[in-house]
Amino acid sequence: MISGRRITVIGGGIAGLSVALAAAQRGARVRVLERAPRLDGDIGAGLQISPNGVAVLTALGLADELRRIGIANQAVVLRDGATGRRVAAMDLSDRAYFLVHRGDLVDMLAKATLAAGVDIQVGQAVETLRETSGGVSLGGSGAAPLAIGADGLHSVVRGVLNGARAPAFTGQTAFRALVRATGKPPARAEVFMGPGRHLVRYPLRDGALINLVGVVEQAEWQAEGWSHPADPDAFRAAFAGFCPGVRDTLSRVETGFLWGLFRHPVAATWHSRRLALLGDAAHPTLPFLAQGANLALEDAWVLADCLDRFAQPEGLARYQALRRPRVIRAIAAANANARNYHLSNPLVRGIAHAGLRGIGKVAPGAMLRKFDWLYQHDVTAGPGR
Ligand SMILES: Cc1cc2nc3c(=O)[nH]c(=O)nc-3n(C[C@H](O)[C@H](O)[C@H](O)COP(=O)(O)OP(=O)(O)OC[C@H]3O[C@@H](n4cnc5c(N)ncnc54)[C@H](O)[C@@H]3O)c2cc1C
Repeated sequence: MISGRRITVIGGGIAGLSVALAAAQRGARVRVLERAPRLDGDIGAGLQISPNGVAVLTALGLADELRRIGIANQAVVLRDGATGRRVAAMDLSDRAYFLVHRGDLVDMLAKATLAAGVDIQVGQAVETLRETSGGVSLGGSGAAPLAIGADGLHSVVRGVLNGARAPAFTGQTAFRALVRATGKPPARAEVFMGPGRHLVRYPLRDGALINLVGVVEQAEWQAEGWSHPADPDAFRAAFAGFCPGVRDTLSRVETGFLWGLFRHPVAATWHSRRLALLGDAAHPTLPFLAQGANLALEDAWVLADCLDRFAQPEGLARYQALRRPRVIRAIAAANANARNYHLSNPLVRGIAHAGLRGIGKVAPGAMLRKFDWLYQHDVTAGPGR
């Protein structure tokens, strides 16, 4: 049903490129309008692609390429920040779970999308749009019978479908940086937890780089967005009480970025007759469960599939019905992680960490099984998923 249809995707990030690819593979004629002057392979840092995201990339025919650009993550290890002592671990050695540079993932998707015949136009910001009886008028970018908003955090399309709604500052600020590795770092993601803060560390690009994201609670407002420069000394100061291993990695930070974490409600309306939303445009996702890119990939597959299998607007309604409850659940789980990582009361923290250590001893797979609903969900598996 999608074959031959003209679709315009607004935004060439992970959501936009993957929905463009999934639609083009089903025969649609797709163009992508990206605001940035180029799809810059070096913007951004680490992303974790968990099995639910890997399933989509595999179905898109990109499994081999993903293995080439990613590191197969063996475990997520929770540690006490001050001592570095292990609190719990999720063994991922038998799962497909990759650590990937965002720029490499965007490059990989862009190449596949171009090869599938998609017209990617850079330097094309869609600032206004209006739905008409026959399609969507995109200001200076012409018109489209169907437009898909994959325009991220500050989505214009979300505003059209849901009205303007100011996000709330969470009281948390994130630092991120990439440092050169000394030696070959282990293929695992580590989460160092402390009062009111945590730091995530993992390798990228065959172990040449180490990705660092540190989240601290602070009342002071910080701007939202991915690219505000950070003072490396402020990053180090925020984690000065952490163990020597963390301080050593932080000592090598030369440049970094800072972003305020804001809570946006999941959009109530994801579509109209001729518009649809996906990825961060529909549900900006805080980084505490590393699901922003994975949920965007899932959305992309389900949206293309629903457009293909059903007449409109039924397909778009099914898409929202399939996706919205799952996204709400994933975001709630991410928010709970933030609370658990940052326990401030030493007694509560001690009890919680001891509990996790105990569970790890008596039921080593229990922590991972808790996330089966998230990681084992394969949106490509068949109708009705
Ligand atoms: C520059 C950048 C760096 C990032 N770095 C990280 C990181 O280091 N770690 C991490 O976990 N996540 C990072 N993310 C976020 C992560 O990629 C997303 O949360 C997730 O992949 C969902 O992707 P998305 O495609 O929905 O949104 P995004 O990745 O935000 O992509 C949205 C795209 O739409 C374009 N766009 C926005 N408005 C318009 C418009 N009006 N007209 C046309 N195009 C428009 C943007 O330029 C962007 O390319 C970054 C995002 C960006 C944009």
